[in-house]
Amino acid sequence: MGILLLLVDGLGLGEPDAERNPMAVARTRWFRCFRTHAPETDGCAVVPTDASLGVPGLPQSATGQTAMLTGLNAPLLAGRHVQGFCTPTLASMLHIHSIFRRASLDGRRVACANAFTDSALRRQRFPSVTTVALRSAGIRLRDLTDLARGEALYHDFTNRLLRARGHPVPLLSSDEAARRLAAITEAHDLTYYEYIQTDLAGHAQNMDRAVNLLEGLDHFVSTVVELLDLSRHLFVLVSDHGNIEDLSSPSHTWNRVPTMAWGRGKEIFARQIQALTDIAPGLLAVWEARRPLASQ
Ligand SMILES: [Zn+2]
Repeated sequence: MGILLLLVDGLGLGEPDAERNPMAVARTRWFRCFRTHAPETDGCAVVPTDASLGVPGLPQSATGQTAMLTGLNAPLLAGRHVQGFCTPTLASMLHIHSIFRRASLDGRRVACANAFTDSALRRQRFPSVTTVALRSAGIRLRDLTDLARGEALYHDFTNRLLRARGHPVPLLSSDEAARRLAAITEAHDLTYYEYIQTDLAGHAQNMDRAVNLLEGLDHFVSTVVELLDLSRHLFVLVSDHGNIEDLSSPSHTWNRVPTMAWGRGKEIFARQIQALTDIAPGLLAVWEARRPLASQ
């Protein structure tokens, strides 16, 4: 079976308040989820997930993503929630414990569907948690050549941002982007993709932009759900902290985040989840349940 892990940055479960929560306004199939959640919607398990991890301060991306990818309480071990980029302390956790490394050591085929620009690949200082985790697991980082071949996605999945920066790449429809992600998922045991526009829209506090983004993301997710053979694959959507669900403030929130799961093993996975530290162990539990008895 293949697992698709989609990180949607800065997506929390807030109040259904149309004045400040674009999730209460946007016309979506999957993102009408609030603090009073439905545990299962339309075949999707939705688990409110703690991103604070018992550490004071607002949850941040670098520690949240490290916790999610390793199962370690990264903000507790680092002494604080760390925003933005990977620190040496977080890198030491990722080097040994990331789900990418554990899957690779187990002989599983791992891919990150994101395409990175040359300047992002060359940058030595301020690496992201994702690039550190992938590199230390020996996973190749895809670039704009892969994107041109139809074998990678930029982090807005439409290429609009790349074109705005002068890269000669075609605009992608969300259908085409979803087809690419589904094809990469079909060819690997673990596929990771991260989408960060939601967090940026939350910081910008712009309701129209946030509603448009959520509707586009919803179409993309719906198409991935339709394209994947969910009798064989598991699709998990996670977030590292809240933000876009409360546009009354430019900061992250303390809200729980939705962990959503479709397809094979979703019940086994969903049962494991209470906090970000449960994501990697939950995925390992799904693989473990699929392992033939003879190889245990
Ligand atoms: Zn942020």
